[in-house]
Amino acid sequence: MPKMTPRQLGDRLELAAAMMTPEAIADFQAAAARLDDRHSLHNKFAIWVQKPDASQVFGMMTWREHGRKVARGQGGIAIFAPVTRREASDGDDNDQAATRRRSGADNGKDGGKDGTAGQGRRIRKGYRISYVWDISQTVPVDCQCPADAPCACPQPKPPAPAGTKPDDADVRELMEALTADDDSQE
Ligand SMILES: [Zn+2]
Repeated sequence: MPKMTPRQLGDRLELAAAMMTPEAIADFQAAAARLDDRHSLHNKFAIWVQKPDASQVFGMMTWREHGRKVARGQGGIAIFAPVTRREASDGDDNDQAATRRRSGADNGKDGGKDGTAGQGRRIRKGYRISYVWDISQTVPVDCQCPADAPCACPQPKPPAPAGTKPDDADVRELMEALTADDDSQE
């Protein structure tokens, strides 16, 4: 599988954002409502661009935990994964400074799971690409179907919509952010 760089994924999303029609926006909103909210809206867009019918995506190891494996030949869906390091701060003396830094520097939407106070918070250093697969690209771990035919194992029930449907303003904001011309090359 060819590896994608964060820059390449960013370029692809910028292109897609520039071509969004009202129908595509509505389709993306429906997809975003299916996909779990552990994904940022940005990553939901990345998933939708690469696999518009995706409904439930996990990494390879997590699918194993769910009793499924990635089917032969299925390419992964690239998403952004934050690269973080834990700020070294033991002791409570630094709490106020840390809070001040936090409120100033970290108002991103991807947070949510970063550390609790006193443990040293996680500082985002950038992004790397990680890969996920849709449930439709997986088969049961014990699947015995021939490799050159579609899996005939009983399919799991499609997951109920698990995410929040983003409103028009949130989608517009994302599209504008993606198409904003940072390095004005035109
Ligand atoms: Zn099968």
